[in-house]
Amino acid sequence: MERLLQGLDASGAAAQHPRRLVVACVRDAVERARRRLADGRVPAEAVSLDALLADARALLEERSAPSLDRAVNATGIVIHTNLGRAPLCQDARRAVAAASGYAVLEIDRATGARGSRQAHVTELLRELTGAEAAFVVNNNAAAVLVALAALASGRDALVSRGELVEIGGSFRMPDVMAASGCRLVEVGTTNKTYLSDYEAALTPSTALLVKVHRSNFSMRGFVREVPPQDLAALGQRAGVPVLFDMGSGALEELGARVRCASGQADLAAAPTLQTAVASGVDIVTASGDKLLGGPQAGLLLGRAGAIAKIRAHPLARAVRIGKLGLAALEATLRVYRDPDRAWSEIPVLEMLSRSADTLERAAGSLLERLRAAVNGAASLDLYATVTEAGGGALPGVELASWAVSVRPHHGSVDAWERRLRHHRPPVFARIADGRLLLDLRTLAPEDEPVVAEALEGAARDHAGAASG
Ligand SMILES: *Cc1c(COP(=O)(O)O)cnc(C)c1O
Repeated sequence: MERLLQGLDASGAAAQHPRRLVVACVRDAVERARRRLADGRVPAEAVSLDALLADARALLEERSAPSLDRAVNATGIVIHTNLGRAPLCQDARRAVAAASGYAVLEIDRATGARGSRQAHVTELLRELTGAEAAFVVNNNAAAVLVALAALASGRDALVSRGELVEIGGSFRMPDVMAASGCRLVEVGTTNKTYLSDYEAALTPSTALLVKVHRSNFSMRGFVREVPPQDLAALGQRAGVPVLFDMGSGALEELGARVRCASGQADLAAAPTLQTAVASGVDIVTASGDKLLGGPQAGLLLGRAGAIAKIRAHPLARAVRIGKLGLAALEATLRVYRDPDRAWSEIPVLEMLSRSADTLERAAGSLLERLRAAVNGAASLDLYATVTEAGGGALPGVELASWAVSVRPHHGSVDAWERRLRHHRPPVFARIADGRLLLDLRTLAPEDEPVVAEALEGAARDHAGAASG
């Protein structure tokens, strides 16, 4: 241990790290070597002071690097849940930085009196969506939970059997309803639900009619669902509020600028937050980081009376939005005041609207750049492919895209994919058709040097393996 610590000190590797971490890494390097020897996995002569030092240095590097690091998304999936969903626009990034210290979060600067954090986004949301009132929370799951608890706890909520969805990450509609304290009453069948099914299920203990958007799957064939405006009309007749969980709420009509792969359904029909609000339902809930392209947040939009009940519920405090998310949300919403700016500056919208021609040209120029990096260790080709919006948005909609395909001459495609993931920052690509695909839809020009560096690393590793 002493000699290893001296060795690390002498090489300068230990100086910039806390002593405790250095000691722990040395101890773990020794322990690992001891275990490998005991198992007979390595011969005694393979355990040298130098090998132990290298191991300790690698551990030190690994443990002192940030865990929640940035990533390069070459998968082509725009709203990639595992890579943090929507990347923020530049204005939102600046707003997060500005709000990181003290900020005018809950104070009225005119009077110095206590204010509400909601005030930063309420007017913007009303202006952009046409809603009478708005409230934001930590995420959409929380928005649905607090709305159900505030509007239907201890009473019945009616939901179509075709809309009892699982969103993923354990958000299952029946479980969320149970957690909110309301009773789930299923109406209709899996494939067909009519307005008369809701009507027949109404009783004096019905507190809420619930509609859930099928965010991550689509149903075809012999199907029928009740549109939000019909449910809203029924709710009004019966004096029962209506909740519409939209999930992915877009503020722009995607059909105007997003081209689907040929033979695909028309995107113009995809609902926006404005159309959902205009349908007359009492509450619309949506995520901030899906098609809206902002930070993780849950939006509640709708009638003043229903919003007031939700705001006053104790759960509202438990699921409140943090100041960094709020700052990013406000900045993102401001960009939407100018639709042209939104389409060019909000990354989700900009990436979804890239045309196949633009992507093909970008793939061509990336391919040229990568040629030198792989240095003959793999074949590179232009590759036509399709991608999806991802993240529980636009299910079943395919977007034509272009990728650079990498077919390694040495080492497996899996090994190259792994090597890219281990690069700093990591590069995430997908494997299809026996190739590694670097999809241009989700790559920014500033990512390209990183992709080149990571591929160069993979080529170098495998060139070594091939000659050694
Ligand atoms: C995504 C989604 C949710 C969950 O939203 P989060 O912001 O991820 O909490 C809930 N309902 C629907 C319909 C969704 O699409």
